Amino acid sequence: KMENATLKAELGRSTWKLLHNVLARYPDHPTDTEKDSLKQFFNYFVQVYPCGDCAQHFQKLLDKFPPQVNSKQTAALWGCHIHNKVNERLQKPIYDCTGILNDYDCGCGGEGEGEGE
Ligand code: FAD
Repeated sequence: KMENATLKAELGRSTWKLLHNVLARYPDHPTDTEKDSLKQFFNYFVQVYPCGDCAQHFQKLLDKFPPQVNSKQTAALWGCHIHNKVNERLQKPIYDCTGILNDYDCGCGGEGEGEGE
């Protein structure tokens, strides 16, 4: 089957949305288990991401810029910066990370409980 750039871009947009929302809901004061979970999440994510050349490039970025798991703030900023690294390579506009904590709202309500409202 031929590569389809539209579908690949659509997958990318959905994935970034998920990733930024995960980071926006990460705790301010994560436990060691929560820190480990986030690291492992990206470890496994890059191994299963279906766009092979994207995953290959992203693995190199992860090696160079490992996930910052010490707080919501550092994690969300890290996510924004690593997305900007991908933007840079694809010659897309660089995103302003200053408001990153307010930019992604999953609509899940509550505070870190993950329960819907
Ligand atoms: P996207 O980059 O998908 O971003 C979606 C929206 O998020 C933007 O419209 C903007 O509102 C917001 N946004 C933009 N930058 C940021 C940021 N830094 N922080 C927070 N929000 C932001 N495509 C390839 O062709 N080659 C690749 O190697 C490749 N690697 C990828 C690796 C990963 C891990 C992922 C998730 C995707 C990859 N993609 C790759 C897809 C690519 O990054 C885009 O998702 C796709 O090209 C669609 O781009 P877009 O212009 O719609 O915006």
